[in-house]
Amino acid sequence: MNPVSIGLDLGTSGLKVIAVTAQGERVAEASANYPLLTPKPGWTEQNPQDWVEATRKALSELALALRGRYEPVALGLSGQMHGATFLDAQGQVIRPAPLWNDQRTGEACAEIERAIPRGELIQRTGNPAVTGFQLPKLVWLRRAEPEHFARVAQVLLPKDYLGFALTGHMATEPSDASGVGALNLAARAWDHDILSALDLRAGMFPEVLPSHAVSGRLSPEWAKATGLPEGLPVVAGAGDNAGAAIGLGLSQTRPGLGSLSLGTSGVLFVPLETPTPEPEGRIHLFCHADGGYHLLGVTLAAAGSLQWYRDKLAPGVPFDELMGEAEAVSVGSDGLVFMPYLAGERSPYLDPDLRGSWLGLSLAHGRGHLTRSLLEGVALSLRDVLEVMRPLVRLERLLAIGGGARSELWLSIVASALRLPLARTEIEEGPARGAAVLGLVGAGVYASVAEALEATAPQQTELQHHRLEMETVYARYKQGFAAVTLFKD
Ligand code: ADP
Repeated sequence: MNPVSIGLDLGTSGLKVIAVTAQGERVAEASANYPLLTPKPGWTEQNPQDWVEATRKALSELALALRGRYEPVALGLSGQMHGATFLDAQGQVIRPAPLWNDQRTGEACAEIERAIPRGELIQRTGNPAVTGFQLPKLVWLRRAEPEHFARVAQVLLPKDYLGFALTGHMATEPSDASGVGALNLAARAWDHDILSALDLRAGMFPEVLPSHAVSGRLSPEWAKATGLPEGLPVVAGAGDNAGAAIGLGLSQTRPGLGSLSLGTSGVLFVPLETPTPEPEGRIHLFCHADGGYHLLGVTLAAAGSLQWYRDKLAPGVPFDELMGEAEAVSVGSDGLVFMPYLAGERSPYLDPDLRGSWLGLSLAHGRGHLTRSLLEGVALSLRDVLEVMRPLVRLERLLAIGGGARSELWLSIVASALRLPLARTEIEEGPARGAAVLGLVGAGVYASVAEALEATAPQQTELQHHRLEMETVYARYKQGFAAVTLFKD
């Protein structure tokens, strides 16, 4: 029977599993959803037991689809980063897990930066104290729920909790662990100085294995419940961004290639060989799942701006029609500038109070101008991220993914704003695919992550080059930024 590796992606609204052959072809998939809990404004939580139930359902369905045709050789894990699953000494969940987008930890972040100066934290861990990260959640728990904190024996990231449920073994790997806020990037190990400055036990955190390592084996109970083979190697895997990047073939062994996701938010991912942080921590630096590192810049409203615009100002109009109108308008939208900070901004400004704007509006402008300026504004907000990244990386080409990448016009505007060629790829499986590829390495189908990437990296199509002159538009956008800082929330 044909061997396949299973990749699991524990997302925020649901979970996806796919089965991938040694050549990277997807042959089956299944999914299941679970609720997002918001017990207070700014709080987001999930019940780890809901993840477990969804996993059981999706894996059972996948096993059925594979039966008699394909032989599962590994299960790789991936998913939402930064969340905190608090476990007692018996491995029982103590309370619902706060997630990556939870905002309750502002005071805990300040406490961390009082214990470890911000600059030192950035040098050691790649990032300042960030509200979404796991470490501030633990510090929050100690202050807000001391009776819960007193019972904490272990804290696990979401996908690592699933690994524990599936195998009975606790482990993590560097790509996800570097989103905790306490991993020493150079050593790829927990930073004992940081933990002792915060009076936290290192033993609360699991062992850090390489991302392609087997972290445990599928237990007899799970084999019976799902129909998958008992003892199936479960591979440590990757956080969602690193997992998606592995699925796209992005690695330090293939230098010069990064990715840009034009989804609801905009995500720039660039692999790095050495852990060189941006000195002010304006973009994230994490471990990659290939043994190297990566930079990550996130703009909050990319295709999300377009979605908002279409829903509010052009309801029912197809995206392609709006794109056609925008194409008829010349570069620079006849002086109209859109600032896409509808929900504040992360990279490179990290300011939740920034707000969006159209600047320079006149009677001469029509809907095509509004649309084009929006596409340009989003592209230039990504240029702001790239300006901060550029001194740290070698970047020759970006793979474009996400809904916005369906528009050739938008891709040509982004390629021109970034002054970089963009290639599209048909791959849409996200982190699950990378988890499956790491599974192939863990199962011994490939000797290394680099070898697996050579065999499974997707085809690139339709290169879009920098062909529009946008430097004067960028200069206007920068002036616009000065204006919007006067109108913060
Ligand atoms: P998410 O990050 O939520 O997964 P997607 O990657 O699915 O989002 O992207 C959805 C977005 O893609 C839509 O909100 C819309 O802005 C954009 N989009 C979808 N189709 C097109 C199109 N044909 N042209 C331009 N943008 C599009």
